[in-house]
Amino acid sequence: MMKNIQSIRGMHDILPDQTPMWRWLEARISRVFAAYDFHEIRLPILEKVEVFTRAIGQSTDVVEKEMYAFEDRNGDVLCLRPEGTAGVVRSAIQHGLLHVPGLKVWYQGPMFRHERPQKGRQRQFHQFGAEVFGLEQATTDVELIALGERLWRELGLAGRIRLEINTLGDREDRQRYRRKLVDYLEPFRERLDADSQRRMETNPLRIFDSKSPETQAIMADAPRLADELGEEARAHFEQVKSMLDRLGIDYTVNTGLVRGLDYYCRTVFEWVTDELGAQGTVCAGGRYNDLVAMQGGKDTPGIGFALGVERLLAMLEAAGVAASQHADAFVVSQVGDADMLAIAERVRDAAPGLSLATALGGGSMKSQFKRADRSGARWCVILGEAEFARGEAAIKDLRGDSGQEMVALDRLPQRLQALLAADTGD
Ligand code: ATP
Ligand code: MG
Repeated sequence: MMKNIQSIRGMHDILPDQTPMWRWLEARISRVFAAYDFHEIRLPILEKVEVFTRAIGQSTDVVEKEMYAFEDRNGDVLCLRPEGTAGVVRSAIQHGLLHVPGLKVWYQGPMFRHERPQKGRQRQFHQFGAEVFGLEQATTDVELIALGERLWRELGLAGRIRLEINTLGDREDRQRYRRKLVDYLEPFRERLDADSQRRMETNPLRIFDSKSPETQAIMADAPRLADELGEEARAHFEQVKSMLDRLGIDYTVNTGLVRGLDYYCRTVFEWVTDELGAQGTVCAGGRYNDLVAMQGGKDTPGIGFALGVERLLAMLEAAGVAASQHADAFVVSQVGDADMLAIAERVRDAAPGLSLATALGGGSMKSQFKRADRSGARWCVILGEAEFARGEAAIKDLRGDSGQEMVALDRLPQRLQALLAADTGD
């Protein structure tokens, strides 16, 4: 026998019984974005590889080992997007969207990283993200954080996701700090894990991200970037903190928070939960004032974040939030198939918004009723032979206790709509 073809490891189907929850979440997120006047942008999933190598940085996990890059038939090297920001910047430059300061965009969709699949970590996963361009004041940083806080509230997850913030200073601050950090680490070089030894040369700040306990212990006493900040970066961070205080948004300053991508500066933040084990970051972001220029655009500050949809869904599931989708009414029929279809079409014409299932495939009344029941529909429309001949149908309440009523066929759509309205009204 031929073996069934399976989906690619780490890339999951989202099945019909899961999509209602996805849509529930997506609707709430897009509503919150709209509340802050963010506009959606939709971009290709494939980009030229330079879009990411230039922006994200050569010595990051994403570029070093996680990208799905390949040569296409023309010999161009393309890449399935591992994240959203670099593509947004590419597009904003290409279409001149940055001429007016204050562009606010959001995106959603699949991202691709060749990581080891495990709980909370997939090779195709989904993000929602937001980016703001042309505004460098701390107000923007804080508004973006407030948006996140509001989102957790809207999702019923308030208090279960905490905010960590840090500042990475400006480029000169980081350069100065980098030398200090390397000097500090030099005597410990042999005791660092292999990745961290390599990062001594390429990207020493990232050593803070090491999961090796011995490296972590060494980093615990490392000098902190916070002590190397220039005046402006320091003032910026102070403003962020005092505005968060004013808005009543709790946070902790985590001086070891460096973020995985090279383009960040100044404010960085993560929204973290303890409910998901090791993969506890549900949302992460920060400022990237040099990124637009790095991509060839006019010097323009930017800030943004991305959230992981699967991790949020896992939290919602654990919290018992569920959404389902089923038809409002299910038609069972003893009359000819064409008559049944014609009536169903009339109902759909006259009752937009109503979801109507029909017993396609026919069968005995008993088996049709069984399907109606299993479908989860609230009402059953019964087209019996004798009733149909009189120009009538029955509507049966499958879930509540209103029993069964007869209705003239030409009044069927209105009656179903009235029942639906009464149902959603309470
Ligand atoms: P991590 O430290 O977990 O690898 P990251 O720093 O690589 O995260 P970002 O690039 O900041 O993650 O992506 C933002 C969010 O996207 C993460 O906080 C997480 O919720 C989600 N995310 C990132 N990688 C994955 C993945 N492989 N599978 C599922 N979700 C992911
Ligand atoms: Mg990662």
